This record gives sequence, structure tokens and C-alpha cells, in this order.
Amino acid sequence: MASRKGAEAGRSQQNGAMQLFFDIDGVLLNFERSFVAWLNREHGMSLPEDYQALSWDFTEVMDKRAMDQSWFRFVESPAAGEMAPLIDPALFNALGDGHGVHLVTNFPQPHMEKRLENLKALGFRYDSLHYCGIHPFRDHQPRTKAQVIKSLLAGETGGRPSLFVDDHPGNCLDVHENCPEIEVWLMSRRFNRDFAHPNIRRAHGWDCLLERLGHPPDPSNGNPDGETFP
Ligand SMILES: [Mg+2]
Repeated sequence: MASRKGAEAGRSQQNGAMQLFFDIDGVLLNFERSFVAWLNREHGMSLPEDYQALSWDFTEVMDKRAMDQSWFRFVESPAAGEMAPLIDPALFNALGDGHGVHLVTNFPQPHMEKRLENLKALGFRYDSLHYCGIHPFRDHQPRTKAQVIKSLLAGETGGRPSLFVDDHPGNCLDVHENCPEIEVWLMSRRFNRDFAHPNIRRAHGWDCLLERLGHPPDPSNGNPDGETFP
């Protein structure tokens, strides 16, 4: 577990506070943009810089076996630690004021230091960060996001309401089914556009979450769904 919020954590005890759990890739950081730029560079592809994957694992541009090898090379590269934000970090920090903010990421544990440096360089504040998710890395299967969130909430007194945001339907289902008291949001991306669930809410970009948490929309948010790629 890592923490960057330090003294800010005390504010999460205020009345009305929530426990907020955010995925990172595809929610806080623009993983796809970094990966696409790397694919174009390393494999001589000519994907548009704002290309969004049709399949979660980009297998529409490369077969799965080759993509697995590319993924290992990408996470070892500096580019994996230089992702741009999908939300203005100052706005995110303001959003987290008064709440508990926890990042739950499937970004590979062996490469987590560059993820921490990436978030620090951008100025994101949070109370804790945890490696978890439904996807293994090489032969290691991490705990699921629901398992980690359950353990974090086990020490809770007073039952603060909780909210979870992820761009992978599998993680949303995991948390919804195993932590039914948590409000679950799916961050819209092109690869998840056909997913529908009666109890999982869809965020068309950060404006939906800003509104949910009582903040005005951010005019810089745009094209969250990859709508330019039918
Ligand atoms: Mg993600």
C-alpha cells in the first residue's frame, strides 16, 4: 500500500464524507493514449493518437500472443510511467476533499514505482493505493478489487457511503456482486460501450462524477467514449 495524501487524510472524517475508490488506467490516467503512441513508435503503426481500443486488450490491432509480449515490453518502458491525466489533478484533489480517496489498480506490482512517480509528478492526492484486479500479471493473480475494498471497509465505523469507479466491466461486476452496498460506476470507454447493467451506472466522462459529488462540470472534458471511432 502507498499513500500520498498524508495530512490531508484527516479531512475525510468530516460529516457527509464518503469512501471513494478509483481505478487508475482509463479513469485517472490516459493509458490508451500512452499505449497507442508506444505501439505506433515500436511497431510502426499509424493509429490515431486518440484511438480507443475496440477490444479491451487491443487484439483488433495485433493478435493476442504478440500483444501479450508487447504489453510486457510496454510496462517496462519509461512511457508506462509518463501517462497524461484524464482529469485535471487539481480538480480531482478538490473532488476528494472531505472524502477518503483510495486508488485500486491492476497496473503490475513489479512496475508500481513508476506509477507512483507518475501520479506524484502530476500532483494527484490520495489516501492509499492498492494493487488488485481481475487480471493476472505473468503468473501472479492479485486480490480482486472487491476483496481489497472489503478489507479497507472492515475497519470502518459509522458506515460511510462508498463509491467505486472503473472502466472494466469485470471489475465493476466484481465490486457490485461482492460489495452490494457500494455505488458502482463504469467509466465509459469505447471497448465497454455495449455493457449494460441495471445497477451499475455509466459515467460519460468525469462530468458525471463531478455532478454526482456536487461539483460543477469541467469544460475541458471531452470525447470520453471514443465516439469518433465507430
Ligand atoms: Mg482501468
